[in-house]
Amino acid sequence: MSVKDKLQTMDYDPAFESRAAADAWLDGHKRRFGHFIGGKWLKPAKAQMLPSFAPATGEVLAEISVGTHAEVTAAVKAARAAEKDWAKTSGHKRAAYLRALARLIEKHAGVLAVLEALDNGKPIRETTNVDIPASVQHFDHHAGWAELIETEFPGHEPVGVAGQIVPWNFPLLMVAWKVAPALAAGNTVVLKPAEFTSLTALYFAELVMAAGLPDGVVNIVTGPGETGALLVEADVDKIAFTGSTEVGKLIRRRIAGTGKHLTLELGGKSPFIVFDDADLDAAADGLADAIWFNQGESCCAGSRLLVQEGIAERFLEKVKVRMAAIRIGHSLDKTVDMGAIVDPVQLERIKRMVAEGTADGAKVWHAPCGLPEDGCYYPPTLVTGAGTANILMQEEVFGPVLSVLTFRTQKEAVALANNSRYGLAASVWSETVSRALEVTAALKAGAVWVNGASMFDASVGFGGMRESGFGREGGREGMTAYLVPKAERKLKDLKADAAPAGSSNAKDIDAAVEATSGAQAAWASKAAAERGTALRRIAETLDARADEFVRKLEATGSGRKAAKAEVETTIRRLFTAAALADKFEGVVHTAPLRGVAFAMNEPFGVLGIACPPEASLLAPVTLAAHALAAGNATVLVPGAALVADLKGLFAGLPVSIVTGDPAASALLLARHGMVDALWSFAGDGAVQEAAAADNMKRTWMGMAKAWDWENGTLTSGKALMERATEVKNIWVPWGDQN
Ligand code: NDP
Repeated sequence: MSVKDKLQTMDYDPAFESRAAADAWLDGHKRRFGHFIGGKWLKPAKAQMLPSFAPATGEVLAEISVGTHAEVTAAVKAARAAEKDWAKTSGHKRAAYLRALARLIEKHAGVLAVLEALDNGKPIRETTNVDIPASVQHFDHHAGWAELIETEFPGHEPVGVAGQIVPWNFPLLMVAWKVAPALAAGNTVVLKPAEFTSLTALYFAELVMAAGLPDGVVNIVTGPGETGALLVEADVDKIAFTGSTEVGKLIRRRIAGTGKHLTLELGGKSPFIVFDDADLDAAADGLADAIWFNQGESCCAGSRLLVQEGIAERFLEKVKVRMAAIRIGHSLDKTVDMGAIVDPVQLERIKRMVAEGTADGAKVWHAPCGLPEDGCYYPPTLVTGAGTANILMQEEVFGPVLSVLTFRTQKEAVALANNSRYGLAASVWSETVSRALEVTAALKAGAVWVNGASMFDASVGFGGMRESGFGREGGREGMTAYLVPKAERKLKDLKADAAPAGSSNAKDIDAAVEATSGAQAAWASKAAAERGTALRRIAETLDARADEFVRKLEATGSGRKAAKAEVETTIRRLFTAAALADKFEGVVHTAPLRGVAFAMNEPFGVLGIACPPEASLLAPVTLAAHALAAGNATVLVPGAALVADLKGLFAGLPVSIVTGDPAASALLLARHGMVDALWSFAGDGAVQEAAAADNMKRTWMGMAKAWDWENGTLTSGKALMERATEVKNIWVPWGDQN
């Protein structure tokens, strides 16, 4: 082709990145990898090896070892052996190690970018511009937290040994998301990368050695899901998991009742909402980024387009133009926009879901982009005409498939957006600030982007609501997920409760949940100060009737002094919760953005509370008051003693007080699909927690510990408000092109 022809077509020739350095590294290991345990490479297992493919071509890049019980145990033992010294290492020194890791990733960026592109199938352009620099940023950011840990998190200590299980969509970046905060907080880790994409994690092991980290602080065990399951069962103090909701639920059931800490970053079906007053060209560009970036293999992919009816046709035309221009090809070709799907298994899954959606009435349009003849490729795809229950509207495809629905009104848009079991991310496009922000507040999602998509920064927490999991990664919230208050570690065990198991009426629980859930939205939308006033009134009422309540407590067996103290503390707790209602505020992040990213503390919705047998006035009132202050409605099961009195105190507020055995009621609440969170200090926490996995309820289980209601360090104030809320991070860019 002549230069003149070229100028006419303006077409790109392939421009391949060199893979020489990556191949040299793989060859250096004879393309066979053992596990990285205690600062050393184990010899590759003889029998059990798994091939790691390049999905662009099917070429076997290397073989990885399958971690068995013996290796997982050895890795946890190594992490345990390193735990004490690492936790004692000063924050300043840990920060130096994290910075060293950041510099080493930077230094090896070229080879890491190639290795990632080869192993995952994603374009080299993305690994170079996103995966690797974002990994560097994560280590640098968390070096900062390590530096500040003594002053920013006083009274806290590391959780201990963290088992970390990561997926294949952003392999190295997920390593950074998991390892950086864990190390900054003083934990040691055992990491299991995804079986499809372990190579950059193994390269990272060498950087860990080069940085001089003490042996055993970072351990890496490769293998399939079974290896991950072994890690979940092992003697770790925390599991941090990113992956499918299905496996997340499995893990939660497995560790229920063990006291292991857990954070889950799970799937999503994120709405991308375009109003008729949006900048349609910007929205179409944003959409292309939201769904076709990383081949759609992203947990926060904007995979559900909700577009206002009047502009739908025009907008879809713009989208199709962009789709048709997407270049698909080999991951090392610098000119491609989309690479290969990670593995034939995932490609089959995408095809199966699209076929099922089509059989259920959806119409499918594939962009006319050329696909390479070999390898694992799927074209950018648009799905229209699917009903709200269609699998392509409800389930995460994890491929380049966009499903479209139209809406007429803002109310309908919000209802459609929230019609999902997931709640990870959302985008809202409108040039009208009041509309965009109102919708933002109404969405059930952990991250919401206004006039943008997929904005991330290590300083801004990321994580889901509902079945998209719980816990945040990044920022202060991400650090707290790797720390535990020292006071919590010192809690004593409760004396075994010899009382026979009681019963609870499922119909009573149903009625209570229904009543409170109907009242929650109105309660949460009241001004925070108004919620505070309502709680203050209860405090004043109790103050006025203090003597009467002292007598009631005496009648339940309390001594006079203890009864008086309990009433006084209860009044104080009510005033505290009332005060916090409008003082437990969010934060404004200083993310690198021309605009603002802010974190809002949001209530869960309906919070079930099964009270402990002790502190029969103080515990239920404290718990309910803080739950209410945060904007939740509550179903409170206080035990027999003061039911009528508590009903009187909370009259007129969204609190249903249920008689019945707290332990039996807690199990009913754990199983209830309309209960969003559960605090339970009664009965078998393991059984309740396992039951709560069904709709990914947020739980706080008493775990037969004496929570010290009198002292209140862990059971009132900010500590309790944090337990009563989850964070929504909202990104609002500003300015325009002019
Ligand atoms: P999984 O949830 O199975 O995998 C995530 C990680 O968990 C991998 O390291 C995996 O190992 C490991 N794992 C698998 N089973 C277990 C188990 N029982 N106990 C402990 N760890 C386990 O996701 P898939 O890779 O199978 O992908 C399936 C679907 O999940 C995707 O199509 C997508 O919808 C969703 N997904 C969501 C992600 C997100 O970021 N939210 C990321 C990845 C997938 P191994 O890889 O060896 O199987």
